[in-house]
Amino acid sequence: MYLFSKINPLYLLILMLGASCSKSIEHTKGLNQEIEKKVEALLEKMTLEEKAGQMTQVGIPAICIQEGYWEAADTIILDTAKLRKALTEDHVGSFLGKNFYPPSRKEYHDFIKQIQDFASNETRLGIPIVYATDAVHGAHYTEKSTIFPHQIAMAASWNPELVSKMAEITAYELRASNTPWNFAPVIDVSWQAQWGRIYETFGEDPYLTTVMGNAFVKTSGNDMSHPEKTAITLKHLIGYGSPLYGKDRKNNLMPERFLRQYYLPPFEEAIKQGAKSVMISSGMINSIPCHVNKFLITDLLKEELGYNGMTVSDWGDMQFLNEFHKTAPNHKEAVKQMVNAGLDMCMVPYDASFAHHVIDLVNEGEISMTRIDDAVRRILRFKHELGLFERPNTHYEDYPDFGSEKFAQESYKAASEAITLLKNDGALPLSKDKKILVTGVAANSLNYLNGPWTRSWSGQDTSYNDNEKNTLLEALIAEVGSDNIKYLEGTSYEEDINTKAVVKAAKKSDCIVVCLGEQPRTERPSDIKELYLPEAQRNLVKALEKTGKPIVLVLLEGRSRIISDIVPLADGILMAYYPGHEGGDAIADILYGDVNPSGKLPISYQKHAAAPMPYLHTVTDRADNFGGYTDYDPQWPFGFGLSYTDFAYDTLKISDSLFSESDTLKVTVQISNIGNRTGKEVVQLYLRDDFASLDPDYERLVRFKKVELEPGTSKEIEFLLSQKDLAFVSATNEWITEEGSFTLSTGNRSDLLKTVSFEYQTTSK
Ligand code: BGC
Repeated sequence: MYLFSKINPLYLLILMLGASCSKSIEHTKGLNQEIEKKVEALLEKMTLEEKAGQMTQVGIPAICIQEGYWEAADTIILDTAKLRKALTEDHVGSFLGKNFYPPSRKEYHDFIKQIQDFASNETRLGIPIVYATDAVHGAHYTEKSTIFPHQIAMAASWNPELVSKMAEITAYELRASNTPWNFAPVIDVSWQAQWGRIYETFGEDPYLTTVMGNAFVKTSGNDMSHPEKTAITLKHLIGYGSPLYGKDRKNNLMPERFLRQYYLPPFEEAIKQGAKSVMISSGMINSIPCHVNKFLITDLLKEELGYNGMTVSDWGDMQFLNEFHKTAPNHKEAVKQMVNAGLDMCMVPYDASFAHHVIDLVNEGEISMTRIDDAVRRILRFKHELGLFERPNTHYEDYPDFGSEKFAQESYKAASEAITLLKNDGALPLSKDKKILVTGVAANSLNYLNGPWTRSWSGQDTSYNDNEKNTLLEALIAEVGSDNIKYLEGTSYEEDINTKAVVKAAKKSDCIVVCLGEQPRTERPSDIKELYLPEAQRNLVKALEKTGKPIVLVLLEGRSRIISDIVPLADGILMAYYPGHEGGDAIADILYGDVNPSGKLPISYQKHAAAPMPYLHTVTDRADNFGGYTDYDPQWPFGFGLSYTDFAYDTLKISDSLFSESDTLKVTVQISNIGNRTGKEVVQLYLRDDFASLDPDYERLVRFKKVELEPGTSKEIEFLLSQKDLAFVSATNEWITEEGSFTLSTGNRSDLLKTVSFEYQTTSK
């Protein structure tokens, strides 16, 4: 029941801040005045050409000795004539890494140093360049760097400390190759099961994404000039993860209310943690390409959220506006639309044409000098905050832990906490003296373990593999020796290879481990038309089931590919996501019981191709209003994951059943390990607004904590909630909290649900 609505104080504060800044969109609060003075002094000296150049990011193929931009040469050799032109004629301010071939850290360091030295010593103002790369699960474009599980797996660990560790090590290894700017993390919330880049996200929930995003961002925080830290980039603003028809870089229909409630919080909170760069999404919201959306970039991000960092376009969006989105009849018009919407830097990335258009547009009065100064001020501030003016280069020899065993152990820890046990009819853990047949397309592949963005963009190229790392097959052999392990591949990604032979071999084994998977692909090539895992892979399992031998499925995939027809045929199922370089060892340790699995799904694992649905939906979306219909019917729900031990949720208690805006509600959950192995459980707390002026969410994650328990022991977990946790975005796009009853729930996400209710009443009537 709702009786009263009131504007959230945070929203009031935002409104006040907005009002006080009507003169300039700059929010000066928290800025370093020393840096500001230097930025202003430099800005005064700069010509329009130099300013336009600062706003331009070019990919390094454009300054390397190579023919076309896409030539996949295994080199990065500077073409000094091209570099001279880029820096002294076009005044380019930023460069972006190459998408093929991982150079060594020395090679990478030396390459960037040459550009940097040229910029410092041979340009009129000596402004350093800023070099960027996509280190989305480790500094993977540098040879021999540490490769972590992809973000979706990091989210499945439900352990933010592991995310911070990954971010810390990634920054260290990036700086080892002289790279100060990372295009990560992805904090898009994704509700579209078809979208291929889900594996790059922290999943479908805004709260989990916010916690994990903050854990990533806080490692660079306000001190990104430190030689072991980098700038990070929040991407992709916004709604990129939920395209209407599931395809990359396409339209998303999203009411502002949705944008504010479900998609904006991870960005808003990460900005509070000190994030200084935001990448704009190549998609569209309500048919408006994000790059030309002034409401989004200027009104919301820069003004309302008070963001004083810089914004960068995504790859080639100047061209996309013209060639795909068709909002601009030519590139020049696209530049006008982007810059006037508030964009600061354009990832062109083929050449410096963007800068030339900016110059013409300013001279023609189509872009104001104030807008240009705002953009350049933010870019120069960013470079200062990165310490590039004082120390344009780091040195590769100062990073002795680069690619070390110590770092690999951190990646292993993350993988082993991420892998999620989805089914166990007693087949797991495997006994070490049993004969195992290993099969499936992903069983003997490093590429399926690492997924896309590994050494190469798509992650498919095997020529750059770190072959000293174990595939799952190699890890199983390392664990129990080769006598008990037999391997036959069974299928390729989509075609049968030798299923008949596999079935024959299975008859002589005690158990079959079938490692299925999703071929590494990213961005547009990851778009699929079919959610089912390819038929050949599922047919392999169907053929093997006829042998009567126990089957354990291991899934190496970036999202939930539908396997509903083979789930009943398996005795054990492990979701391993893309667990990274140590993933083979981590899966083997879980299969053999050396590690007790503790991952939980950060997405709903879908069962029906025609009705994929995230767990965050309204009461009506799920309502059983005709009897017998359950509209949220995933294979496994968001937050689900089993263990080799059993946990009991003993009690869920609250400090008071009546609650007002000045109160803190203390929620305690008592949990016990009633099995016979030590294990980790993620205690999850969900909230439902029982009645509201808008169809309320059926449930919404509000807190979680991962705890470890010895057998026979109990723990009491405490969560604190405030009025802010009860708020939602109203029909008029304001955060409000309504009086009435609310229900909290906790449990193991299948049958053991504990609930408790309380009333919220305001005292300020
Ligand atoms: C992707 C971004 C990435 C950029 C630079 C784009 O195609 O969408 O996520 O940061 O390329 O590689």
